[in-house]
Amino acid sequence: MRPGRRHAPRGSGHTAVARFAGPGPRLKLSAGREKSLERRHPWVFAGSIERVEGAPGPGDAVALVDAGDRFLAWAAYSPASQIRARVWSWREAAPVDAGHVRELVRAAIARRPAIGPAEAMRLVHGEADGLPGVVVDRYADLLVIQLTSAGAEAWRDAILAAALEATGCARACERSDADVREIEGLLPRAEMVFGEDATVEIVEDGLRYRVDALHGQKTGFYLDQRDNRATVRRHAGGRRVLNCFCYTGGFSVAAAAGGAATVLSIDSSAPALALAVQNAALNGLDAAPLEWREADVFAALRDLRNAGAAFDLVVLDPPKFAPTAGHAEKAARAYKDINLLGLKLLAPGGLLATFSCSGGVSAELFQKIVAGAAADAGADAAVLQRFQAAADHPVSLAFPEGEYLKGLFLKKR
Ligand code: SAH
Repeated sequence: MRPGRRHAPRGSGHTAVARFAGPGPRLKLSAGREKSLERRHPWVFAGSIERVEGAPGPGDAVALVDAGDRFLAWAAYSPASQIRARVWSWREAAPVDAGHVRELVRAAIARRPAIGPAEAMRLVHGEADGLPGVVVDRYADLLVIQLTSAGAEAWRDAILAAALEATGCARACERSDADVREIEGLLPRAEMVFGEDATVEIVEDGLRYRVDALHGQKTGFYLDQRDNRATVRRHAGGRRVLNCFCYTGGFSVAAAAGGAATVLSIDSSAPALALAVQNAALNGLDAAPLEWREADVFAALRDLRNAGAAFDLVVLDPPKFAPTAGHAEKAARAYKDINLLGLKLLAPGGLLATFSCSGGVSAELFQKIVAGAAADAGADAAVLQRFQAAADHPVSLAFPEGEYLKGLFLKKR
């Protein structure tokens, strides 16, 4: 994509740059603070704003202008957040209105990869799709929307209408109950929007899973791990598998379907485990080699180590320990702890699929943490593969913050 406007060459002496004279509220940035926007980074932090002109309310469209009044972008105003505005349009001629928002949603859905007949996928992935704070997931005939910015909240109806129209889904559910809404000054909302039933069955990699979109975690299912579950499935044959933080049994079912000898699955959530047991049964898997344990993984790994247990494939897919870089140190300790124990529990030649979905921990830092854990465990391991989120969770080059899921597939020597 090319910027919709041209910049006067710097230092050229030309000053004949059109000043933006449009109506409506605007945010004037301090001198020099337009640079990240010129690289198409969609966030404006409070500290970059010299002046708010007009009286925009939460979620209102504002024009962003530089210190010389040049137009930069159209954004949605978030007065409660340090991320004070998020860009929804880069073109002066395309201000943010319901039609523009509907078009963004349509375009995001239209560029989704085809991943098969099950149609369980993320249709809108926030900033990477030009829709800051908007997530739309599709589970068969059920749409789930999650709105986490003031702008997303303001355009809720247009987003929902466009997604329903583009997919023909009969049911819709809203899961706008993520913690980050509080930072935006928004109250949590979790409810059915159309239809009564928030449960649905999806097919992934030929395997069936029940999803409870209203009561489950996030929007009900971790679609981002689709490819990684398939990888684990391919490597599970004959192995004793330990799946930590198993949620509704995604990696467990995949490993069992891949011919695992045994699968021990651990999670602290009883409702998640209940659904996991159902998911195994749904796929006709023999229940005998599958054990489900409701426990704290940190304690359970110690118990397993003390009992002298051994596994040939360990999956560690914990929740977000570090939502922002500010939590990275505490998160690093937690990642190191579970990875150290996971590596100790692995027999020689065993595989470790280890993940972090913390935005505040980069792939590089994560690898360092795991390397430290291996050193402390006295284990040597090689990287077989690096994991990332599936392609329906795109990362925009202009917005590297959107890259949250990373992982390593390691072989212990
Ligand atoms: N791998 C899963 C997703 C994991 S989500 C999949 O593919 O679907 C993280 C899970 O960790 C959640 O189910 C949550 O209940 C669980 N969890 C969080 N903290 C935990 C802890 N200390 N011990 C055990 N489980 C925990």
